[in-house]
Amino acid sequence: MTFNLTILGSGSATPVPDRHTTAQILSIEGDYFLIDCGEGTQYRLIENHLRPGRLKYIFISHLHGDHYFGLVPLLSSLNLAGRTDDLWLFGPRGLWEIITVQFRYSDTKLNYPIHFQETDPHQPTQILDHPNVTVETIPLQHRIDCTGFLFREKNRKRKLMADKLPGDLPVSFYRQLKDGQDILDDLGQVLYSAEEYTLPAPQPRSYAFCSDTRYNEAMFDQIRGVDLLYHEASFLDDMEALSEKYFHSTARQAALTARQVAANRLMIGHFSSRYKVTDEFLVQARAVFPETYLAIEGQTTEV
Ligand SMILES: [Zn+2]
Ligand SMILES: [Zn+2]
Repeated sequence: MTFNLTILGSGSATPVPDRHTTAQILSIEGDYFLIDCGEGTQYRLIENHLRPGRLKYIFISHLHGDHYFGLVPLLSSLNLAGRTDDLWLFGPRGLWEIITVQFRYSDTKLNYPIHFQETDPHQPTQILDHPNVTVETIPLQHRIDCTGFLFREKNRKRKLMADKLPGDLPVSFYRQLKDGQDILDDLGQVLYSAEEYTLPAPQPRSYAFCSDTRYNEAMFDQIRGVDLLYHEASFLDDMEALSEKYFHSTARQAALTARQVAANRLMIGHFSSRYKVTDEFLVQARAVFPETYLAIEGQTTEV
């Protein structure tokens, strides 16, 4: 199953020339899951050759503008492009009202349905049960209500040993074997056993998106053992007091979180505009958690 993360924005609220506000695409078997939608997200999609028409689910963490100011323009453009497919939108209380006010006064009528679901900022809640993944909210500690999102892959299929199988086997048999079912003949005898022709399914993967937040021990149990953790790191270590005051995290705190929850990999982003270069973020985070990487716009990572 494809389960890829593409970073469209790695900056925080104040504009800087070469970093954009938060937006990410999770691509799961051809469906696009957009996480946050900072200003200009629709341009980032086009620049990165990601077709907006493939968007199916949009998740908004909170109502600071750097996380959703690109949403109404994107929804409008989908309408102009002739979209009729349903779209699912998850976000905090107030988001739906903001959208409908803008559309009301521009006399915009969408030709596609949007199913809006309000997120609960206090309780982890499963908000989506998709054929390939489930999505839960992660309550974060920020200045206003804010949730992260935890994507868990459902059980993966067994792997075919293609070289062992006869070439003329019908495709439906492949599917059966990958599901772990034996192929039987008319008398109910096993022709091809799943055990013999497939390898065990790989472990299901998970991705946790945590922005914006203070160092937040309350979420540790929920995200323990996550494969890829995205955690905001707005500041370097010498700004910890200010970071705390603004309900943000430092690179070291993000790394500490990754270490405490035994994540496989950590990606940090949401860098404050006061930093022209981000190398020091990596140095400070890797000192605590070596498997740390910077969020780099335009780069795609397999979960
Ligand atoms: Zn932010
Ligand atoms: Zn914020």
